[in-house]
Amino acid sequence: MINLFNYNQLQLADYFASIGEKPFRAKQLMRWMHHFGVYDFTQMTDIAKSLREKLAVDTEITLPNVQLEQVSNDGTRKWLIDVNNKVTDDKNGVANSIETVFIPEDDRGTLCISSQVGCALACTFCSTGAQGFNRNLSVSEIIGQLAIANKSLRSESGYDLLSVNDRIISNVVMMGMGEPLTNYDNVVTAMQIMLDDSAYGLSRRRVTLSTSGVVPAMDRLKEDCPVALAVSLHAPNDALRDVLVPINKKYPIKELMAACNRYLEKAPRDFVTFEYVMLDGVNDTVEHAHELLEVIKHVPCKLNLIPFNPFPNSGYETSKASHIRVFRDILMQAGYVVTVRKTRGDDIDAACGQLAGKVLDKTKRTKTIPIEAVA
Ligand code: SF4
Repeated sequence: MINLFNYNQLQLADYFASIGEKPFRAKQLMRWMHHFGVYDFTQMTDIAKSLREKLAVDTEITLPNVQLEQVSNDGTRKWLIDVNNKVTDDKNGVANSIETVFIPEDDRGTLCISSQVGCALACTFCSTGAQGFNRNLSVSEIIGQLAIANKSLRSESGYDLLSVNDRIISNVVMMGMGEPLTNYDNVVTAMQIMLDDSAYGLSRRRVTLSTSGVVPAMDRLKEDCPVALAVSLHAPNDALRDVLVPINKKYPIKELMAACNRYLEKAPRDFVTFEYVMLDGVNDTVEHAHELLEVIKHVPCKLNLIPFNPFPNSGYETSKASHIRVFRDILMQAGYVVTVRKTRGDDIDAACGQLAGKVLDKTKRTKTIPIEAVA
């Protein structure tokens, strides 16, 4: 069976052409699946009955299953999503779970989406990296996270699913489990669906991809789907970044900064957001702040300081609040816009970017990919 949830509009049009149907059917189907959240062919009333019957025989619309939905006291919401798949998953029959987090704020609602089960890049401060890599998520599993969250939030708030004017999820960040640019094709297709007016209609400024710095894929992305870019920098020199973000050994800071500037030629925003996790005594001194200013001085950017979210055996501790303030002030006095990420959803372990930290790991993930093998 073909899962139509894996296709963007162009791919759907190709599919319809292959079965002798007009390409505009793709737009109709996109609207039913993504705009209205209708997955039952019999309800797609503007599609000919004969085609609906054919689709029901040859295709399916399949999303991953929600295992658990939790709501924090501060309104943050987390879905634990089962992405076990009898075709692609390992043979042990163990469960694969990913997390998706919704963070409501006064002026926006942000959904943090995962792109892989685990991650191979092994950043030493990251709980996902500590668990190793299992597999890439499919398009349907990536866009399915948005579909699940959208449907849940809209039905709970009383909005009619057939009314799409009230956008609860205004922003999407590809910042959950995994390095999105090492699952390039599926992530780009999923983002194309997010941007499609017949689907979720998000603007490119409101979809942010966060990368640890896979330079060749950054260059591809600016041509294929230039959304807003965030870069996990986390260190102001190569010696330290080689340890914290090992992919730096392949794409060191100078190359990364050059790639950021190339990306900005096509980006929907005129700045890159640099993320910088604050690790006590490791990367948070006054000297580090000044070194960081040197590193970023030729890249239009904003900075997001992220107090480290501890997890067992990480070996790191969160920077002291006073150190974070001093670090922030040095950057701000140099003229940069700096935000310090607030901790949200503590009571449901929903720290964005370190989503898997306390999730029971049932996947027996051990595989890592040598840095040299990363495209
Ligand atoms: S920080 Fe991102 S790239 Fe690094 S290990 Fe964690 S999920 Fe992977």
